[in-house]
Amino acid sequence: MSTLELVNISKKFQSQQVLSNVNLKVRNGEFVSLLGPSGSGKSTIFHLIGGLYLPDQGSIRLNNQEISGQKGSISYMPQTPSLLPWRTVLENVILGAELHQKPDKHRAEEMLERAGLIEYSEAYPHELSGGMRQRVAFVRSILSPQPFICLDEPFSALDEFTRLDMQKWLLSIWEEERPSVLFVTHNIEEAIFLSDRILVLGAKPAQVKAEFTVDFARPRKEGVTLTTEFLQ
Ligand code: ADP
Ligand code: MG
Repeated sequence: MSTLELVNISKKFQSQQVLSNVNLKVRNGEFVSLLGPSGSGKSTIFHLIGGLYLPDQGSIRLNNQEISGQKGSISYMPQTPSLLPWRTVLENVILGAELHQKPDKHRAEEMLERAGLIEYSEAYPHELSGGMRQRVAFVRSILSPQPFICLDEPFSALDEFTRLDMQKWLLSIWEEERPSVLFVTHNIEEAIFLSDRILVLGAKPAQVKAEFTVDFARPRKEGVTLTTEFLQ
């Protein structure tokens, strides 16, 4: 059981009001995507959920418990993969799991294999391409499945083939373990493919609605009704 709720969240940086009275809810087992133009505050929302920043106003509740300013309540993959340069790929991947449970090397290796990175287990981050580093960070964030997973543009640096493969993998994990997921992407097709619900930040409904009539819309299952909500 894992429900996340942001209630009346506001955040200002110097004189810039980035978020004002944002309300957002991810229900138990739901896959929700967050879309919005660059600079609209998507990553700021993630930083607030991840406890890296404090909101100026409002509350962030995981299962009705306030988690503002608390790190480690959720599994979180930041937009810029923060791999430790002095640790190998395998060690980096196990790092996330160490925080929650005893690292499972075998499972880590299985997941690196699935991500196409097993030959790089003993390599260091600087020896990898941007897309590979992104996949390492992705594996790290899903290795010890948390009931709530936040992924900030996890596939943005991947080529189209790898991206599709990773989307399918993420969906299969979601179907098996049913975590609640909050997923940021710039890719509308990706959001439609993965989500139960799409939230759009900082855009007027009239401006964005047209983009959702795209022909390539292909929800992951027959009969899935995709709903879209527009936040402040
Ligand atoms: P998005 O992820 O939607 O592209 P961000 O949340 O990264 O947007 O940024 C929203 C706005 O907040 C941007 O104008 C950005 O410059 C500003 N911002 C984000 N983090 C900081 C910070 N730590 N200090 C000052 N300004 C910030
Ligand atoms: Mg961002």
